[in-house]
Amino acid sequence: MNQYIEETKKGLVHTYNRFPVVFEKGEGVYLYDTDGKKYLDFAAGIAVCGLGYGNQELNQVLKDQIDRLTHTSNLYYNTTCGEAAKALRRITGMDRVFFTNSGTEAVEGALKSARKYAFKKKTGRYEFIAMENSFHGRSIGAVSVTGSEAYRTPFEPMLPGVKFAKFNDLDSVKEQITDKTCAIILEPLQGEGGINQASQEFMEGIRKLCDEEGILMICDEIQCGMGRTGSMFAWQSYGVKPDIMAMAKAIGSGLPVGAFAMTEETAGYSLEPGDHGSTYGGNPLACAAVAKTVEIFERENIAEHVQRIGAYLAEKLDGLVAESDVAAERRGTGLIQGIRLTKPAGGAISRALEEGLVVISARDNVIRLVPPLIIEEEHVDEMIDILRRVLRDVEEC
Ligand SMILES: *Cc1c(COP(=O)(O)O)cnc(C)c1O
Repeated sequence: MNQYIEETKKGLVHTYNRFPVVFEKGEGVYLYDTDGKKYLDFAAGIAVCGLGYGNQELNQVLKDQIDRLTHTSNLYYNTTCGEAAKALRRITGMDRVFFTNSGTEAVEGALKSARKYAFKKKTGRYEFIAMENSFHGRSIGAVSVTGSEAYRTPFEPMLPGVKFAKFNDLDSVKEQITDKTCAIILEPLQGEGGINQASQEFMEGIRKLCDEEGILMICDEIQCGMGRTGSMFAWQSYGVKPDIMAMAKAIGSGLPVGAFAMTEETAGYSLEPGDHGSTYGGNPLACAAVAKTVEIFERENIAEHVQRIGAYLAEKLDGLVAESDVAAERRGTGLIQGIRLTKPAGGAISRALEEGLVVISARDNVIRLVPPLIIEEEHVDEMIDILRRVLRDVEEC
């Protein structure tokens, strides 16, 4: 294991503080390291591997596609891109889809789409309102709308015309609106920012403000989407529809793929030939993954499964919070939940890994639980047993 770690450390730009584990294999909801140690996975590669590991149906489709064709560029049509777009249109209710290679690019494309909309309508609008504690990615555009100063400061100056409002505070959004506001971007459930769920009032209020003022509403569903909250996309449970949305993470079950999508009304004034593009985006392999992933999610009714297991997880976490002094509060819904600790979460997360449980943090003091969506009650029980032990340990030190 150390050999892999040393080799990797030597060759890469030091941007990640990795845990000293080398994962080699996955099976269902378990990961195995190079020593053969087994880990229960409650991170899913940061909310990516919704179907867990080793789904044979998905793997067979990917293997077949690799043998057939993996890349063509967007100068031509391919056999899977249309099918993947159709699948995403079906589950989002959006009309037009653009495929990217990551979440960051999906956000970037969503921002460009909004700017183009204003340009074509000659409204003179260009400003974005984003939320404090948001996370939208690491490109200059995406990081400009990310509500975390640590991520922005080293790369200033940022994109001009970005304002930040308080999440779940409609008045603070209103204060930032001007006749130059082009779009409001938000995650219906902030993942990275600490597992903060938008209130019904906030989501409805944003939609209403956007309608009244001629502003576009952009939902970043990259982490909270694709079944994770118990509906296919989080905004759907609010009965509020954005004009543009960004997806990635779980839509390709681990293949690097993202997408942004928009309504026909928005598309009518937005990107046109020459405005945007990607060499890899929507390549045959990535799109085969998306089409198959969506098919399995629909057939297996994953969102409904998430509602059931999510409720069970919430109940167990509430119990843990009640009995533990370091666990202060449960957050989130479905299979994107967290517990806020009274101290930094890093110690507990390292300790959990030693105990064979993979969890991640959100902000400094929240343990984030974003497991594969196929987990069963027995896996929740197994996780709770380990976490109870871990919390007892960190309480003492
Ligand atoms: C992960 C994430 C992104 C960035 O996606 P990448 O694929 O890492 O570029 C953007 N927004 C949200 C909400 C995310 O969770």
